[in-house]
Amino acid sequence: PGGAPEVEELRTAFNTMLEHIDDSLAVRAEAEQRLRRFVADASHELRTPLMSVRGYADLFQYAAANEPAERERHLARLRAEAARMGVLLDDLLLLARLDAAEVEAPLRPRDADLVELVGQAADAFRASHPGRALTVAPGPASLPLRLDPQRVRQVLDNLLTNAAVHTPPGTPVSVAVSVADGRALVRVADRGPGIPAADRSRVFDRFFRVDKARSRDRGGSGLGLSVARSLAEAHGGTLALADEPDATAFVLTLPLR
Ligand code: ADP
Repeated sequence: PGGAPEVEELRTAFNTMLEHIDDSLAVRAEAEQRLRRFVADASHELRTPLMSVRGYADLFQYAAANEPAERERHLARLRAEAARMGVLLDDLLLLARLDAAEVEAPLRPRDADLVELVGQAADAFRASHPGRALTVAPGPASLPLRLDPQRVRQVLDNLLTNAAVHTPPGTPVSVAVSVADGRALVRVADRGPGIPAADRSRVFDRFFRVDKARSRDRGGSGLGLSVARSLAEAHGGTLALADEPDATAFVLTLPLR
């Protein structure tokens, strides 16, 4: 105070610089913390099926050789657990690639029709969930976009599967394609029990499940929605849980061409 204006200016510039350094250190500490937590969570998630694989291998070994049916059962479970580990590893690798998107482009975009893609996802859902009512709302006849069809299918399949897995049998599911505010929208909704208000902001977090034990029994990794959101964002789009009173509705938006 009272110094030459040049000195004051220097002082201000210096303080601003210190603030920037503080900020970037905090950002870095946070990123490191997130990474540590991710590695710890991933190891934990992989350990669970790995322990099962070991357990079933032991059971197989000790099952009497004259009990082929019992051995076959242990083998089938072992294979299922190994398959679960495979899915988990695929998700982890994809997340790592999406995180490092500047280094390696994780998408293979091409011209594709979103309406057709949603139709294919609906057909596949009906085939794998016989007895489930799925309605496809009337919408545009076609919607040509630039996207990675395999990855957008993955997002759609994940939302549809969640709507089936996390709701009682017989709960109706619906999907709708529309265009609003210069973006393509896909809304996947169900009328199941929904997501508790306290957990709404966390369902996109890696490894988050509302009911850990039950969801894991159903083969859920808790990675589905975080992978889906990362894929939506890699397309320049968004994935969000809509604030609707009578439905659990996830809305995927994608940029128009
Ligand atoms: P998971 O592999 O467990 O399904 P997700 O990341 O796909 O993992 O979903 C995270 C959690 O969000 C789920 O474990 C579930 O508790 C909740 N959830 C997702 N979709 C729905 C839905 N349609 N209805 C109710 N709960 C849901």
